[in-house]
Amino acid sequence: MTKWVYGFSSQETAGNKSMKDLLGGKGANLAEMCGLKLPVPPGFTVSTQACMDFYKAGKVISEEIKNEILAELKKVETITGKVFGSEKNPLLFSVRSGARVSMPGMMDTVLNLGMNDHSVKTIAKLTDNPRFAWDSYRRFIQMFANVVMGVNTSILEAQLEDLKEARNYKEDTELDAEDLEELVDVYKQVLLEEFGKTFPQDPMEQLWMSIGAVFGSWHNPRAKKYRQMNGFSDDWGTAVNVQTMVFGNTGDTSGTGVCFTRNPSDGEKVFFGEYLMNAQGEDVVAGIRTPAPINEASKNDSNKNFKTLEEVMPKAYTELVEIYQHLETHYKDMQDIEFTIEDSKLYILQTRGAKRTINAGLKVAVDLVSEGLISKEEAVLRIKPTDLDNLLHPRLDAAAKKEILATGLPASPGAASGQIVFDSEVAQTWFDAGKKVILVRQETSPEDIGGMNVAQGILTARGGMTSHAAVVARGMGKPCVAGCTSLNISEKNKTLRVGDKEFGEGDSITFDGSTGNVYAGVVPTIEAEISDNFAHFMSWADEFRRMGVRANADNPHDAKMAIEFGAEGIGLCRTEHMFFAPERILAVREMIFASTELERKVALDKLLPFQRSDFSGIFEAMDGKPVNIRLLDPPLHEFLPHKESEIEELADVLGLEKRVIEQRKESLYEFNPMLGHRGCRLGITYPEIYKMQVRAIIEAAIEVSKKGIQVYPEIMVPLIGTYKELEILKFEANEVIAEVFEQTKTKIKYKIGTMLELPRACITAGEIAPIAEFFSFGTNDLTQTTFGLSRDDAGKFLPFYEARGIYPNDPFVSIDEAGVGFLVNHAVQEGKKANPDIHCGICGEHGGDPASIDFCERAGLDYVSCSPFRVPIARLAAAQSTLRNKK
Ligand code: ADP
Ligand code: MG
Ligand code: MG
Repeated sequence: MTKWVYGFSSQETAGNKSMKDLLGGKGANLAEMCGLKLPVPPGFTVSTQACMDFYKAGKVISEEIKNEILAELKKVETITGKVFGSEKNPLLFSVRSGARVSMPGMMDTVLNLGMNDHSVKTIAKLTDNPRFAWDSYRRFIQMFANVVMGVNTSILEAQLEDLKEARNYKEDTELDAEDLEELVDVYKQVLLEEFGKTFPQDPMEQLWMSIGAVFGSWHNPRAKKYRQMNGFSDDWGTAVNVQTMVFGNTGDTSGTGVCFTRNPSDGEKVFFGEYLMNAQGEDVVAGIRTPAPINEASKNDSNKNFKTLEEVMPKAYTELVEIYQHLETHYKDMQDIEFTIEDSKLYILQTRGAKRTINAGLKVAVDLVSEGLISKEEAVLRIKPTDLDNLLHPRLDAAAKKEILATGLPASPGAASGQIVFDSEVAQTWFDAGKKVILVRQETSPEDIGGMNVAQGILTARGGMTSHAAVVARGMGKPCVAGCTSLNISEKNKTLRVGDKEFGEGDSITFDGSTGNVYAGVVPTIEAEISDNFAHFMSWADEFRRMGVRANADNPHDAKMAIEFGAEGIGLCRTEHMFFAPERILAVREMIFASTELERKVALDKLLPFQRSDFSGIFEAMDGKPVNIRLLDPPLHEFLPHKESEIEELADVLGLEKRVIEQRKESLYEFNPMLGHRGCRLGITYPEIYKMQVRAIIEAAIEVSKKGIQVYPEIMVPLIGTYKELEILKFEANEVIAEVFEQTKTKIKYKIGTMLELPRACITAGEIAPIAEFFSFGTNDLTQTTFGLSRDDAGKFLPFYEARGIYPNDPFVSIDEAGVGFLVNHAVQEGKKANPDIHCGICGEHGGDPASIDFCERAGLDYVSCSPFRVPIARLAAAQSTLRNKK
């Protein structure tokens, strides 16, 4: 037989903290605390399984469950010596929801359940405190009406305010017993007249209705939305905790509060909390009155004049101190504790792992290890890798006044403010003039790199989390909000309209790439600061990590940053960005427009010194760490001139007519550039291009190694579909390299390998491996080609696929294990079989995503590579994967 209801009391407890799935987080911890003999008011938990049964039965609580509840209720009566529904000695309950993870959107707590017209009088008499009795009753009606009957209680609250005004009171506590009795009558009347609902007097009916309402709240729209956003299952259900009431509102020897065993904003080991005297439940959080500090350490500017709990009720405070220490040692983690004091007697109502800022999280983890409470492994597993992101970027000053204009996708974290500019050239000119700019565009393209590079941040109206703007911004570590569809941008008129507001070039704007919010004007930001705890903590992560972590970086600046963040090499150095600089693009275009091999060589010779110095800079920055350089990859039309002036300039240099340039441009047009003339196909058709690049790489490597710096270049051929492509290109590269060695009379170590980004390459990896020294999975393109969809066009349908549950999540963010993952696994296995020395890594966007990193660990990859700012995340995620997969 299934057990549906679990009693908890200091006498007898059926549950414990490991039973969160069945009892919910709150219920499991209440049971655990009872096991520790802490002063927890007795009660029982109706399980999450009962919630599922409730839905199966068509939203009714079965007789079997009802009987178990009644049996547990009897036990509580025996323990407390009170009787639920009795007129002489009434027992009152709180009814509290609690899923396995704390979840906003679930039902609010109902306090004082069991109150009715009779019991209120008995309680008034028994406690000799009529004010308290009527206050509890009116609170109950208000909460029950709102939470269980589903009535919008602003009308009831208005009645309370009216009465206060009529009596000339400022605080709720000034209402006396008669006032409150009057209010109860008014409440009942309003419920009947305005909403046609009778407030139920029968406590049993109140209880069944409340339990039903908690179960019912599992499927309310807010809770559902929250689960969907967090990937939580609808099948978990919520538990219901029914617990004996204790009263913080009996007068000046009572109160209620919340405390943290350490400071949740910086992690300092100081006991920290707030309380309210003569108050119940949510009053502390609701902000009706300013709460008082529990001790000196908790004082701040707004509460420093209040008496502390330590001063007012020293005995209860001392007990609270003992209990918090006990709980922290027991749970081996910083706790968030809710307590109530009834006539100087302390009760504990909840404990849970405290929410904390990332800085506090790191400090607590490091401290708990040095206090001997947890091991380094446990500490490393405690921090959520993506939370590290907040450490590395400036954030908005929480205290600053701000008005949200619009919300887009949180594409790249960090806060940015500056003057609006609508094109990249203006961005660069203004930047040179010392201005801070925000690049605002419909969407960005490779030509915007320069502008993006100097902007504080990038804001776009179109595009998703993997749009050009988002990917490049993350790579640069620049804040970005993408796909902010309510922005109306006219790049031509240089205006930005949002609702009825209009901004022009030069107007100030602020946004937060961590939340997607956009604000008018300048909102003050706080710079990121990296603590010693961070370094200390990360050194543990590195100790446990099996995979290497590299960075994707295209220039010395990013390479240096990557090293600072702990990168062990460069996993992807793209060469195309190097071609966009104003002094080079002309030579690139000359090369593209060349009609003979000789002409092309002349143009390429102009590019060679540029490329060589690009690579020298990166090799120097990487100081002995491997650098993986990908040969030219994008279709040539990305480099074509668009502006009239650019076309004229090119025509001039080449001595051609503009008409000829236009014709050549047209001839480069492709129906499907993603699957067109790009990647190694460029190397096959124009061998001179790759030869120039290989020469630049090796000459730079030799030059730098002569300065006494170790250099490990890895030359990567993109987009191969068959081993033959690699065979040819490798042969040609080796020819050039032999030539350079011969000319310089120097030899260095290098590797030649390939990017696996086409399904055919993965499938035939066994043929490719013998001629490749490494495989690097380019999972962006591999995802596009496996799914047969273009990332740049997916914005139109991907949201529908996610909303309808066809794709569990965006396959460009988290690797699709069943499809793309299958190919990766196959390629690694076949590759290693054919060439045991082959070195395997990943260099797509997925390299910085913790779930994908976990996949890479299981697939046996040697390293992951991601944008410099994600390197710490990847280091931690990789360490956690090693630890988790070892277990
Ligand atoms: P939440 O999940 O929103 O924290 P809780 O179920 O913890 O909701 O209830 C909120 C508050 O209600 C508690 O912090 C406590 O002050 C009050 N409360 C809950 N149960 C009781 C009880 N048995 N006696 C007195 N107060 C209670
Ligand atoms: Mg609580
Ligand atoms: Mg690619």
